[in-house]
Amino acid sequence: MAVSIHGNIVSGPREVDIPAHLSFGQFLFDQLKEGGDNIAQICGQTGEKVTYRDILQKSVNLAVALQRLGLKKGDVVSLASENRFEFTVASLAVMYAGGVLSTLNITYTPGEVVHVLSITKPKFIFASPLAAPNIEDVMPQFPYVEKLILFGPVQIVPGILYEDLIRQNVNINDFTLVDVNGAEDTLGIMCSSGTTGLPKGVMLTHVNFLLLTAHLKYYLDTSMSKRKHSVKVMLSVIPWFHAYGFITHLAILSGHIETVFLVGFQEELFLQTIQNYKVNLLFLVPPLAVFLAKHPLVAKYNLSSLNEVWCGAAPLSSDIQKLVSQRIGLDFIRQGFGFTEMTMACFVDMNGRKPGTCGTPGPGLKVKVVDIDSGKTLGPRKEGELWFKSPLRMKGYMGDPAAGEALFDSAGFIRSGDIGYYDEDGDFYIVDRLKELIKYKGFQVAPAELEALLLKHSGVAECGVVGVPDEAAGELPLAFVVVQPGAKLTEQELQEYVAKQVSPAKHLRGGVIFIKEIPKNPSGKILRRELRQMLKKPKSKL
Ligand code: AMP
Repeated sequence: MAVSIHGNIVSGPREVDIPAHLSFGQFLFDQLKEGGDNIAQICGQTGEKVTYRDILQKSVNLAVALQRLGLKKGDVVSLASENRFEFTVASLAVMYAGGVLSTLNITYTPGEVVHVLSITKPKFIFASPLAAPNIEDVMPQFPYVEKLILFGPVQIVPGILYEDLIRQNVNINDFTLVDVNGAEDTLGIMCSSGTTGLPKGVMLTHVNFLLLTAHLKYYLDTSMSKRKHSVKVMLSVIPWFHAYGFITHLAILSGHIETVFLVGFQEELFLQTIQNYKVNLLFLVPPLAVFLAKHPLVAKYNLSSLNEVWCGAAPLSSDIQKLVSQRIGLDFIRQGFGFTEMTMACFVDMNGRKPGTCGTPGPGLKVKVVDIDSGKTLGPRKEGELWFKSPLRMKGYMGDPAAGEALFDSAGFIRSGDIGYYDEDGDFYIVDRLKELIKYKGFQVAPAELEALLLKHSGVAECGVVGVPDEAAGELPLAFVVVQPGAKLTEQELQEYVAKQVSPAKHLRGGVIFIKEIPKNPSGKILRRELRQMLKKPKSKL
């Protein structure tokens, strides 16, 4: 892969082409038309299959129904669902109608749903039976939510049934998509806490999605030219409500690769699905790689159809990387690195020659490593913060332009909050994280959110939350707590208090450590690095 290094800026290869009309909806619409009667998606749980034609017809039917219900260009529509056929159809329909998509994690508690909805302000919400009760609970707080549209056959809460909206048969040839200005118009709002503070709404444009799709095609085409078998079947196990799952599932749909999806991860079903459907392409997060590397069940299944295994969203250890490739007989597991504010795509390892690298910059991407103290741009093998420049950059944070702008420098580079370095070939290595972020099984946990929650507890005087390294999950949230004078608190009490109010990824699985003082700098900012250092010392000295 052509990487160049000039003046300490590392650049990826030439930009890839994207469709001239710059509408992701139009692009997918055209690709679905081309796919015709081929199988597009299979539910790994039930074996049910749908063709590209089915998806196209249903999505056009739904787009027309949504417009009749009042959906206009730029209106936000939330999707709260596990992976299921309706999720894809609804995403497409909203795009065709010029709407903006925002996904909602189905494990969110009502409090977390409220936080996201107050940022995204949706007009309509689609909800699966699993998610609907939580949404219904908070609906009265959001008068701007006009319709709740329910997936599945039964009306478990008051709302409109999706099935009723797709029943009409619109003539595809008479249907015109709402025109968009792809470089400017937001297509998706994904949650990320960025480098600091509470979760925010990252606005990604049509061009961001188109470019990501073009990059993925570029990577697969480049790698396929070196492989014996082509990629025909992908297994999608990462939740589509997560930005990584959402973007890859839509990109793959456009590439005419059959997607077998699972509603969630179940050990035997996951392995059976790879074996039975002869899956070639798999997107993983590190905990799934640990499962493939270590679990005894893996040896019972024939996984030899796999020829592309990607892993991203959190660091993958080189030992696990090696074990997985040995176990499934692949030359290497491809690590990637990205972040939501860059449409998830920055580096991809193209050749597997160097364990631990997450690869070289993607097409059209420029990267610099900046010394944390001096602000100087560093050369090879020097650790500093990674800054990126590319048309994959987000449009900004919804409703908080200042927080978005603060991430960019005058040359248009966005800071990542990650510490890393590159070698003489332009291969990058991530070594640490500067930003306030914990990753539990690839899910973002914002320390500021847990600290705010803990501070509401009457017994907590001060606190600081950090991640404890954990092989299976990546990191576990842990709280350092200073108890209010005279109060009595136990670890279990605080763990239960948090668990009642936030989704499972944010539970204090790393525990609670009671200390006398939270280390802070003179302006009162928590020194998380010092807290993390304290974790490395024996417990008795804390
Ligand atoms: P998100 O915005 O949820 O995708 O989170 C992005 C963050 O996850 C990055 O800024 C990194 O801190 C971390 N991350 C993602 N991929 C990797 C990787 N391959 N190695 C190390 N950290 C990663």
